[in-house]
Amino acid sequence: MKILVLNCGSSSIKYQFISMTNEKVLAKGQIERIGTNQAVLTHYFEDGKSAKVVSDIPDHNKAIEVVISTLTNTDYGVISDKQEIKAVGHRVVHGGEKFANSVLITAAVKDKIHDCIELAPLHNPHNFRGIKACAELLPGVPQVAVFDTAFHQTMPATSYLYAIPYSEYQVHNVRRYGFHGTSHRYVSERAAKLLKKKPEQIKVITCHLGNGCSISAIENGRSIDTSMGFTPLEGLVMGTRCGDIDPAIIFYIASRQGLSLSEIDNLLNKHSGLEGISGISNDLREILKQMNAGNDRAKLAVDIFCYRLKKYICAYFGVMNGVDALIFTAGIGENADQIREITCAGLECIGIKLDAAKNRNTIGTEGLISAKSSKIDVFVIPTNEEIIISRDTRKIVEAMNRTNREIVE
Ligand code: AMP
Repeated sequence: MKILVLNCGSSSIKYQFISMTNEKVLAKGQIERIGTNQAVLTHYFEDGKSAKVVSDIPDHNKAIEVVISTLTNTDYGVISDKQEIKAVGHRVVHGGEKFANSVLITAAVKDKIHDCIELAPLHNPHNFRGIKACAELLPGVPQVAVFDTAFHQTMPATSYLYAIPYSEYQVHNVRRYGFHGTSHRYVSERAAKLLKKKPEQIKVITCHLGNGCSISAIENGRSIDTSMGFTPLEGLVMGTRCGDIDPAIIFYIASRQGLSLSEIDNLLNKHSGLEGISGISNDLREILKQMNAGNDRAKLAVDIFCYRLKKYICAYFGVMNGVDALIFTAGIGENADQIREITCAGLECIGIKLDAAKNRNTIGTEGLISAKSSKIDVFVIPTNEEIIISRDTRKIVEAMNRTNREIVE
């Protein structure tokens, strides 16, 4: 079975086309600047070969049409007919409390995903557009939704409720949902394999550190707490997002500076975090370069980033009464050995000790970076959300095919 995995954003679509026989990625790529006549398709195929095409792509329908025609292109395509696409798996950001697992997309599911738009107005509408476009362009091909929030639906009320009037939850659905669930799930399952145990037998802390950052406490294969909350703004310091702040700051800024709610929303989401503190960039590579050259504000940004992360690691260690492993993943977690080193320094008190050389040498690859004497294993595990989406899609479509066969027989 060959599966198309789609991640539809506001002006970009990322795709992977995976053969499930051996989980081989046959092709992958992205279209950026959708909505303009200068949209850029970058397509990778056959072990590193690539093609780049600039064209007019006004909307998601056209973009997905381009993805399909690229996959069947005679020069750089990987299939001869679109009928070889047996299923489509979609990353959907918000499933609210309606979805605790991946699901086959039916008319009823589409309605529920649509209902979740008010919880993720910046993301779900584009996921929804991608689903509609595939229904038109690949009629009869089953589609599956894999939600960023689903993995965290196992959190207990003590983790997901805020200490505000209960009616805000009951009537208005205000609670912690958590995000990056597919990534936390992938790396925790992979950690279980590395520890030669089942996910149900281990307790781990997973740090997804990219442009967006979140950390999760995962006990016996189930997420029991995570740092992102009602929206992806809460928790760790991120590229441009502030993470945890005193909510009263919002009222203070509004009254003192006369900013509107949407201006403050913009300030906290787009101009805070590493960029806001350093005044340099949201790109950690640039900040580390400046820090290592002696820039104090860059150092302050890095120190605050690592300090917040360290506090969460210790909190989750405490709530789980100890852990088997700590995992770093995503752009920063996989590549920034300096961040891992600063964060883990002084955590010997909870049994974490890095091996300096292993940490330095593990960049963008999987590996154990803790010292032999460390009581807790520390791993770098490159994330792979697409493989989880393709596996869930395959499982659901195969179950659907079995049921249909039984009904026919
Ligand atoms: P992601 O959202 O997972 O693509 O991660 C993006 C973040 O990873 C950005 O802040 C990058 O600066 C950071 N990043 C990527 N590669 C490196 C690297 N080699 N060293 C430090 N940070 C990196």
